[in-house]
Amino acid sequence: MEEFDFENRIVSPTEIMGENDSDNPLRPRTLHDYIGQEKAKQNLAVFMEAARQRHESLDHVLLYGPPGLGKTTLSGIIANEMNVNLRITSGPAIEKPGDLAAILTNLNEGDVLFIDEIHRISRAVEEILYPAMEDFAIDIVTGKGQMAASYHLPLPHFTLVGATTRAGQLTAPLRDRFGVCLRLELYTPEELARIICRSAGILNIAIEQEGALEIASRSRGTPRIANRMLKRVRDFAQVLSNGVITLSTARTALERLEVDELGLDANDRRMLTALVKFYRGGPVGLETLAAAIGEEAVTIEDVIEPYLMQIGFLNRTPRGRCITRAACLHLGFEVPDAAEGQIRFE
Ligand code: ADP
Repeated sequence: MEEFDFENRIVSPTEIMGENDSDNPLRPRTLHDYIGQEKAKQNLAVFMEAARQRHESLDHVLLYGPPGLGKTTLSGIIANEMNVNLRITSGPAIEKPGDLAAILTNLNEGDVLFIDEIHRISRAVEEILYPAMEDFAIDIVTGKGQMAASYHLPLPHFTLVGATTRAGQLTAPLRDRFGVCLRLELYTPEELARIICRSAGILNIAIEQEGALEIASRSRGTPRIANRMLKRVRDFAQVLSNGVITLSTARTALERLEVDELGLDANDRRMLTALVKFYRGGPVGLETLAAAIGEEAVTIEDVIEPYLMQIGFLNRTPRGRCITRAACLHLGFEVPDAAEGQIRFE
């Protein structure tokens, strides 16, 4: 089976991902190597097999979930498993309808077009996407007034894979045009430990099982963070001990990196501290909280909050964000009244 080509992108990966990982050897290339997300994986395997049997392209797929959970990776796997090319771009990179038309008319039959941050495409671009997704055709109007001419361009049957951090941000007509919607969940420490061991094997890093589990349990349920931490812990193991990542080298390294035993980092602590110090534990509105800690509201919503809610440290209520009793105890704060009566949901 041909491997998908991450170099062959329309937009440079740095633009899309905020990090350069075009030749990332850690990305799994088959569904078999993609660890965790069992539900999404099993369904996708069925849909792909059915499409293959019918000699059709796969229906359009919407992937949603917090950053770093493997949406881009999965789009590559789909292209690889369906034996077609992958084109990668992102919502903000497609500025004008013409940009999207150029991308679409350059696709080959069956190709996968991955649009990251699809909720950020403009209205005008979205209009082009509807007929492209539904009828595999676009209508282009050139010129103005009497010189105006309209062209109907048929497109190859392609598969659009859209990724978004929140499906709720998509307009209903766009969401409805995806035949398959898959929600990616935060990973368990055991799944992350398997990912870390796999990555360690690829990068030639010696690691003990307990060391892997220690890094995993501090990785906020996110493979991208797990892989990044593995590389940093390796540096400590190499310089401070014999190069093997054991439980104790992992612990020392993560303490030095200021990641605590639950995976909270300086940003999490800053936000939770502000909640207690300035707002007596909440409730406080997202925008107010964002301004108080000098962070973007979307960063709080997409990056900081999902994990804090998963471990029962933060509640989202209609009146705003509230810290929980468990978080106060963990951080050594006096439990404010607002958090006293709250139950921790596992
Ligand atoms: P997203 O597109 O959701 O932000 P990516 O697909 O870029 O996330 O994944 C981030 C990194 O995490 C990738 O480089 C890949 O190595 C790793 N990764 C993600 N999901 C998995 C998985 N299920 N198994 C193994 N590695 C994974």
